[in-house]
Parts: sequence; C-alpha cells; structure tokens
Amino acid sequence: MAAAWQDVVRDAAAVREAAAVAVDAALLAGVLMRTGEQPHASDVVNYAPFTLLPSAVPRALFEQAYAVQQDFNLLVDAVSQNKEFLEQTLASTIKVDDFTARLFRIYMQVLEEGLAQTVFLGINRSDYMFDCGLDGTAALRQIEINTIAASFGGLTSRTADVHRLVLKVLGKTEEASHLLPNNPAKGLALGIAKAWELYGSQRAVVMFLVEEVQRNIFDQRCVENELWNRNIRVVRKRFREVFEQGSLDASRRLYMDGQEVAVVYYREGYVPQVYDRQSWEARLLLERSRAVKCPDIATQLAGTKKVQQELSRPGTLEKLLPGRPEAVARIRATFAGLYSLDEGEEGDRIAATAIADPDRFVLKPQREGGGNNLYGEELKEVLEKIKDTPERTSYILMDKIKPQPALNYLLRAHSPLQVSECISELGIFGVYVRQGRELVLNQAAGHLLRTKAIEHADGGVAAGVAVLDTPFLV
Ligand code: ADP
Ligand code: MG
Repeated sequence: MAAAWQDVVRDAAAVREAAAVAVDAALLAGVLMRTGEQPHASDVVNYAPFTLLPSAVPRALFEQAYAVQQDFNLLVDAVSQNKEFLEQTLASTIKVDDFTARLFRIYMQVLEEGLAQTVFLGINRSDYMFDCGLDGTAALRQIEINTIAASFGGLTSRTADVHRLVLKVLGKTEEASHLLPNNPAKGLALGIAKAWELYGSQRAVVMFLVEEVQRNIFDQRCVENELWNRNIRVVRKRFREVFEQGSLDASRRLYMDGQEVAVVYYREGYVPQVYDRQSWEARLLLERSRAVKCPDIATQLAGTKKVQQELSRPGTLEKLLPGRPEAVARIRATFAGLYSLDEGEEGDRIAATAIADPDRFVLKPQREGGGNNLYGEELKEVLEKIKDTPERTSYILMDKIKPQPALNYLLRAHSPLQVSECISELGIFGVYVRQGRELVLNQAAGHLLRTKAIEHADGGVAAGVAVLDTPFLV
C-alpha cells in the first residue's frame, strides 16, 4: 500500500514538472478557495490544497465503506427519531457541556411544541482511517460520522481529473485510467431537490445557511449550481440575517423577508463560537419551522461523539435497528474501541488505563471542525487533571488508529515542494430523505479522500492541515 509510486516519488525533476501541471490543472478544474488575505471576495482566489499523487487505498476497504453507508444513513435517522435514546445518552454530557446542552434544550422545546416539519433530509459523511494491524493487514475503522455541514463534496468532484493528468505527465497512463469518477455534489443536490419537491411549494427556495467568513464558498457553489440546474432557486443567508428577516406564519412556514423557504441546508452552526444570543434565537426559529432542515437538531445531536461512543455498546445497534442483523454487523465491523468517561467504575478504569498508556488513545470533546482532540502527553495531562471531576464526562476516549504512512507531496499555495510521510482519511457521503415514517431516498453519494502529514495528529482541510486527495484503489 505504501509503495504505489515508489519509482517517481524521489525523482525531483519529474515531481517539479508534475507539480506545476497539477496546480494549473486544479485552477482550471475549479479546485478553489478564497484566500486568507481576502476571505470575503472572489477577486483573488487560489487552489485548495491537494496531494500531488493520488493515495493508495485498499479496494476491499473502499468497497466496504460504500457498502455500509446506507446502513449508517438508517442508523442516524433512527437515532434522530429516538427521544429516549438521545435523552439517556446525552444526560451526563449536557450536565457539563454547555453547547450540547443548549442544542438539547432546543430539541426538547421543539418536540414539546410538536414538530411542524414532515419531510426530513440527511446529508452526512462517514469518515474512516485504515488501521494497520501487527501482521500488516489494514482494517476499515470509522473515525466519526458528520451529520452537519459535511464539506468538500463539491471540490472533491474535481480532483480526480487533476490526478489523472498528473499520472499521465509522470508516464502512468494505464494507472490514470483507473481513477474513479466521483461527484458527491450531484448526490447532495439530488437529496436537497427531493426534499424541496416533497415540501411541495414551487415558489419556495432552498436556503444555504452560511458562515460569516466563506473561504470555502466554491465547494458550496458546486451543490448550489446543481440546484439551479434543476431550476430550484437558492439563497445564501447567515444566522444574523435569519434573525433580522426570518418569520413564521400561522402554520409555521418559514419566510425570509416574504420569501418562503422549503429547505434549510446548514453549512454553519456546529461550533459554539458562532452562537451569540441572536444566532440561538435564529436557530430556534428555524427548528420550529415547517421547513426541511438539513440536519434537524435531533440529527445534529445524533452526530455527537457521545452518541458515537454509546452506539458501540453491546446490544445498542440491535435495539436501534431491530430486524436488521446484517446492517448491524456491517456497521459494527467498522467500529474502533470507544469508551465512556461517565462517572463510575467503568470510567475510572479506562481513565487510569489511558493515563498509563496515552499513545493508545485519543481523547475527544463534543466538538466538530478539527483541532479539538487530545493525544499523547497532552491527553495524559488533561485526564490527570479532570479524572476526578464531572468535567471528565464531556469527553470520550477512542482507540487511536495507526495507519501505514506513504510518501506524497502536499501542494499548498506559498509552500515549498517537499516530500512528506502521509496518512489518509476516507469519507463516504450519505444522503437520505424521509417523508413522515417512509424513507423515500437512501444512497451513498460519493467519496472524499483527505491526506495529511503524519506530524499532525488532528485537523481537516479547512483547518489547514489535511489536503484533498483521490483514492487509487489497490
Ligand atoms: P472533528 O469532529 O473535529 O473532525 P474527528 O473525530 O474527525 O473530529 O477527529 C479529527 C481528526 O483527528 C481526524 O480527522 C483524524 O485525523 C484524527 N483522529 C480522530 N480520531 C482518531 C483516532 N481514533 N485515531 C487516530 N486519529 C484520529
Ligand atoms: Mg472529523
């Protein structure tokens, strides 16, 4: 697996030539981001970071990840509809984690009022790494499932063309022909369009709820343009604008300055920092509305790390997916070891184990977006400090996945061209639509491969650590 491009990876002249071609191809293909210096305008843009070479991915594990995606869609949907499970699972977390607690309060409030929403749209991305066993064989291990604002489905649909060209420049025409086509943005748009149609108002728009700073706007535009192609009108709004312009009518239809909204697609709203008093109020307004939220707040909660950890307990999947033993087995086969740090003997024991052997684990708070997890010495220090406090329960512990590194070049604007030891993370996009109790769409929508240098324990593409990649199946 590590040796896919051994003959070219150390050939400095060939690499330099290929990198120049690659960067121009990325710009031509639209693998773009706004710059850090001018994040609010598209006057100056640059290429989004990507690998020079596609990374080797074991075909069997790639297929396994696709084969389990519909099961994960079902599971997330089931969790989102199970009040008792969410309540029990998050009870300890919401005592100490203010952000999760506030989301949970909105969840309870909209349930008490009674849901106006009848059509549900899920767009998620299940992320995996390839754990290398002692005997050298690799196993698919889920890192997490993102149920809100899962990104890069647009830009990644353009990286395969770039890598195909790079391989040709490097004399690998045969290998170039094996790179798979991939267009998650199209699949995501299909789900949004289906939800829009079932909402049933020709006049209504799809609203992208977007960040204050939108460096990754081109990724979103890919999905947006797919909707325009279907003659579905799209507007982009921030929480601030929802607070100022949003209102509900008597049947809780959502309007933005008089314009009815059928679907709210969140590309924002998963980190506490964006929520001031007005944003919380805007969020509540959206959740109370009849509009299809992607995700609704229950589905956002279903994506918390605490839920992930509880799902791994023996018997839980069987309860959530009754009568589906095969789906349960496929899902469970992807789980890494996950451990609760709730107060009590079980938590005490695993905390002590992790302090004694921190390199075996990752310590995770209930946060999204990369850069929040703790590893090694830092994990040990933090756990030692909080092990006898309730704060411990705001974290979970997870077995650390140890993939086999491979050599590659990470192409980043204004950075020197240098070889790095890299590891990759594979994401599969899932999309589903439910009307009342009936699931009317359930699909895998494409994939995303992200690669980073091994010296970084954590962090995604948006965080400036990982870069876009294309799988080369081996
Ligand atoms: P976030 O919600 O911040 O994206 P993740 O659980 O995806 O949180 O973790 C962020 C990053 O940390 C991942 O992309 C991966 O690189 C690394 N990571 C997370 N869990 C593990 C693990 N169990 N073993 C090794 N690396 C991990
Ligand atoms: Mg992640």
